[in-house]
Amino acid sequence: MSAVTLTGQPAAQGSAELLARVPDQLYINGQWVNGTGEPFAVTDPATGQVLKQIQNASVADGARALDAAVAAADVWAATPARVRAEILRRAFDLLQERRENFATLMTLEMGKPIAEANGEVTYGGEFLRWFSEEAVRISGRYGANPEGTGTMVVTQRPVGPCYLITPWNFPLAMATRKIAPALAAGCTVVVKPAELTPLTTLLFVQLLADAGVPAGVVNVITTTRSQAVSAPIIADPRLRKLSFTGSTGVGRALIAQAAQNVLRTSMELGGNAPFLVFADADLEQAVTGAMLAKFRNTGQACTAANRFIVHASVADEFARRLTERVNALVSGPGIDPTVSFGPLVTEAAVDNVAALVQDALARGATLLTGGIRSEGPGSFYAPTVLTGVSADSRLVLEEIFGPVVGIQTFETDEEAIEMANNTEYGLIGYVFTTDINRGHRMIESIDTGMMGLNTGLVSNAAAPFGGVKQSGLGREGGLEGINEYLSTKYTLIPSS
Ligand code: NAD
Repeated sequence: MSAVTLTGQPAAQGSAELLARVPDQLYINGQWVNGTGEPFAVTDPATGQVLKQIQNASVADGARALDAAVAAADVWAATPARVRAEILRRAFDLLQERRENFATLMTLEMGKPIAEANGEVTYGGEFLRWFSEEAVRISGRYGANPEGTGTMVVTQRPVGPCYLITPWNFPLAMATRKIAPALAAGCTVVVKPAELTPLTTLLFVQLLADAGVPAGVVNVITTTRSQAVSAPIIADPRLRKLSFTGSTGVGRALIAQAAQNVLRTSMELGGNAPFLVFADADLEQAVTGAMLAKFRNTGQACTAANRFIVHASVADEFARRLTERVNALVSGPGIDPTVSFGPLVTEAAVDNVAALVQDALARGATLLTGGIRSEGPGSFYAPTVLTGVSADSRLVLEEIFGPVVGIQTFETDEEAIEMANNTEYGLIGYVFTTDINRGHRMIESIDTGMMGLNTGLVSNAAAPFGGVKQSGLGREGGLEGINEYLSTKYTLIPSS
């Protein structure tokens, strides 16, 4: 069983005062307005307590938000790129000034330890800085056609009003990763945060207004009826782009809806990342990488290592060292700075993780630590390590989204590659080896959009984030990220 420590520190002083300052309304056309649905509660997963009641958008509110984004679209598209860039840069600066508020709020509504929430402010903020720099580098081409009979002009234009749907696991970064490139490209947006963690987005849109984002350019709707409110927005021909981050199942349904209007989509969906440890790996490095890739955000990351595929000759030692590190985690409400391991987002998430562990045990896995749900308050599940996980276990086949390491073993490189690629997902893979040639071979052979070679954390605003196969379409961040919000226009001017 887990030797994990539980602490019971009270919430940091100032949390109540911060919560009182967080807006509780919808933000449409530069105004804070009530929704026409019944208000709903946002709760703290570490305590189960209600943090705040907020307004609930109806279908009509969603339509009003889209109206505002459409009305503001032409003026924002015509706003000089330098002006758009400087507003984003001001937002970056304001976020640094208000860092503590955002970190505290994310910990309260989502549960991640405060140090991780601070890390997310840094990561999320970098999208504002990066795309403020990219806004002025949107360029085109001009040149003779190959036949020499005319001039070809290629320009990039903002795609138009966008609908951005974000998940609960990275409440700030998933919002900035979409809003910043959209605004940099000259698009207006309606943002729909996850109903479990809407407060960060509400506080953030207030920051954007303070930074000078004009009315109608960013609109936020919070709702408990995501499907009912989103479907008419997606069906509206004035909408020109849908960007979604969330589960593959919902992503598939949204792609089907978007198909009716041949709407451009970006999809950042689920993952089932392989974490490969070769016999020649630096095991300390691999264990450190595993802690980051598995236990960051209590395992609730699309990039979380999901399948630990370890060479048989080092599997026992890897498992022993990893278990030692896992047992040193300090579990509790993340607002306490001594805590390194927070709750899962809901009791339902705990039920799901518990069921996956039970399934693996029933199929013959061995439990080294964890495997227990903690008594309340809060939705905690102990960090868990299992060895001898069979290939038909749900832990292997599904996205775990929780703090469970399931170790399988392999003998040959070919076997490792086959196991790594044996999934419908293709977001990221992690490889630990000291042999550079083997490392390159794995980068070439593993079918994912991203790879970490001897590291458990790759996310960076300057890098293209995204997957292949059923992990999604498109890229966020990097030079590529702004292209999701631009459409290419070609003009031929015949020579006279
Ligand atoms: P989810 O799919 O349940 O919800 C994501 C968002 O979609 C939320 O805002 C939710 O309210 C909304 N939503 C749900 N059903 C909808 C519908 N029918 N129509 C319109 N909107 C709808 O996912 P989640 O539980 O919030 O997030 C976890 C999932 O997100 C995991 O699968 C994870 O891998 C994935 N994720 C992917 C990335 C990535 O970049 N690839 C990043 C973070 C999370």
